[in-house]
Amino acid sequence: MKTFEELGVSEEIRRAIEELGFEHPMPVQEEVIPYLLGNGNDVIALAQTGTGKTAAFGIPLLERTDPTNRSTQAVVISPTRELCLQIADDLKSFAKYIKGINIVAVYGGTSIIDQIHALKHGAQIIVATPGRLIDLMHRGAAKVQDVRNVVLDEADEMLNMGFSDSINEIFDNVPADRNTLLFSATMSKDIERIALNYLHDHKEIVVGSRNEGAENVNHIYYMVNAKDKYLALKRIVDFYPRIYGIIFCRTKAETQEVADKL
Ligand code: AMP
Repeated sequence: MKTFEELGVSEEIRRAIEELGFEHPMPVQEEVIPYLLGNGNDVIALAQTGTGKTAAFGIPLLERTDPTNRSTQAVVISPTRELCLQIADDLKSFAKYIKGINIVAVYGGTSIIDQIHALKHGAQIIVATPGRLIDLMHRGAAKVQDVRNVVLDEADEMLNMGFSDSINEIFDNVPADRNTLLFSATMSKDIERIALNYLHDHKEIVVGSRNEGAENVNHIYYMVNAKDKYLALKRIVDFYPRIYGIIFCRTKAETQEVADKL
């Protein structure tokens, strides 16, 4: 097993990720990080959430960002506001010991004014949903002419959500010699088309086999009234006393409530 140092990760970032508890690179990181630290390297990585893909693209992005230059050097495009915020948070934690890197998340469904303001201070890395980035580009608030790296995260999701035109427009406005990194859980004809149009000599990396993990898993759902949800959950826990699992909730408050009650 390699170390992050052997992959070429700088001391500042190693210090930050060690604090996050990263001891060894995950498989996608071992493949993607050293490759992306080189120049002119495009990648398609078929990797699902939970494989460590954010650090796989995030660490090389930070390594390739010049903190002394205020212009936007990287854009990460992702399908939802939640994912944008999550990615921006992760990047900020990896960049904890690098001085002068400004990472800004911009997404739809919220006031654009604050985002325009945030970009005015100069953001070397913008993490964006496609539609909002286009809007900010049209208003002159997001300037992508110096971008060196474009990351499409959950590209299949973005295409499913109808962001294809926005993605094309973004690619048409960034320099032709940038690096492009495309992450997707699945490979489809549409993803192949993007690769053909916008990636150059890309390397394809598959992490695990597709839908790994689903093989030995049964999915069961119970339809209950909202007020009975906790009782139903409790009955499942009572029925399987050795249960070991993760419960996902929709809101912070509900998460806390379920944890407290259990
Ligand atoms: P992601 O696939 O990017 O959503 O990452 C899944 C989770 O793995 C996140 O909580 C990361 O903080 C964590 N993670 C990523 N890389 C490592 C690593 N090398 N060692 C331990 N945890 C990691």
